[in-house]
Amino acid sequence: MTESSGAADRLWCERAVLSGGAASGVLLEVANGRFVTVSPASDPVEGVERLEGWVVPGFVDTHVHGGGGHDYATTDPDEALAARAFHRRHGTTTSFASLVTAGLDTLVAQLGTLAPLVHRGELAGVHLEGPFLSPARKGAHDETLLRTPTPELVDRLLAAADGTLRMVTLAPELPGALDATARLVAAGVAVAVGHTDGDETDARRALDAGASVATHLFNAMRPVHQREPGPVPVLLDDERVMVELIGDGFHLHPDIVRLAVAAAGLEGTALVTDAMVATGMPDGAYSLGGLDVVVRRGEARLVEDDGAPGSIAGSTLTMAAGFEFLRRTGLSVPGAAWLAASTPARRHELDGVGVIEPGGQADLCVVDDAGRLQRVLQRGGWVTR
Ligand SMILES: [Zn+2]
Repeated sequence: MTESSGAADRLWCERAVLSGGAASGVLLEVANGRFVTVSPASDPVEGVERLEGWVVPGFVDTHVHGGGGHDYATTDPDEALAARAFHRRHGTTTSFASLVTAGLDTLVAQLGTLAPLVHRGELAGVHLEGPFLSPARKGAHDETLLRTPTPELVDRLLAAADGTLRMVTLAPELPGALDATARLVAAGVAVAVGHTDGDETDARRALDAGASVATHLFNAMRPVHQREPGPVPVLLDDERVMVELIGDGFHLHPDIVRLAVAAAGLEGTALVTDAMVATGMPDGAYSLGGLDVVVRRGEARLVEDDGAPGSIAGSTLTMAAGFEFLRRTGLSVPGAAWLAASTPARRHELDGVGVIEPGGQADLCVVDDAGRLQRVLQRGGWVTR
């Protein structure tokens, strides 16, 4: 990535992915952190900074736990900001902060730490992945801390988040889960089906109750079987759902990614990192939600009691690396830009981001033909690596 900093005012793009589609030769005017005009300009403009390759909307990551050695599950705002800064350098200009299962008092304290960062615009919202998950599909969540979603618990979490909670992952087969779904949706919170041992009927009920996202589709849910389909086909097929895919080439085989994108469409599929603290760090021993994790060749797994590697424990993916992976699966740069920015922004109603258009926040990523990240602009300022 090019070292650069400072503010941009006019930029000429060789190729750009705009709200209306891909375009060649585009002039962007930026003021006060926003795009003012987006206009055709077939030739580079004298005195205007020239961006080669592709200009795509800044990446939007709606499922991420940390990175660069820093964790969003914290009561130290500087720790959360350091995780945010790490991912910004890797193209994430808009981000939720995801929290794994923890004790209720701990979650309340973490929500209280993150809420001011959302109000300040550092984060776009908070995602609770737990504690309302199935013990049978717990993945890297502490089973002893899993809960069933009572109205009292839901209300306590909503109050602690102070309007910043944007998504809750829950297993729809748990007692009270459908009532909790309706309660959360009424409070403006997206409900995601995930970490579920439920079947296709449970998934359908969740969608009818208002659920609109699938948390890392395929991972931590029943696999597809021709006579026992489980939740995956319903979640792929129903237009009300945006499915999250972890694009690290390890959680999902490239053939599965192609299948999912073909079924859910560009407007129904989001790239997420599910990145944990070890992202961007050397292999070694880490922790996720108080559980021991070992990272080998970038693959994070729980450490079992006998020391053997266990469940996959999040990823060490950045949005930049995920974008490159999507290109390698055969998606075009504009197609990958839908998954990495436009679709999650649109589905989560994140106004002014995920698209390059007049009035929108001046966030963009410059990538080459292979999808490799070159530069990042956030709110009109170049992000220095
Ligand atoms: Zn996660």
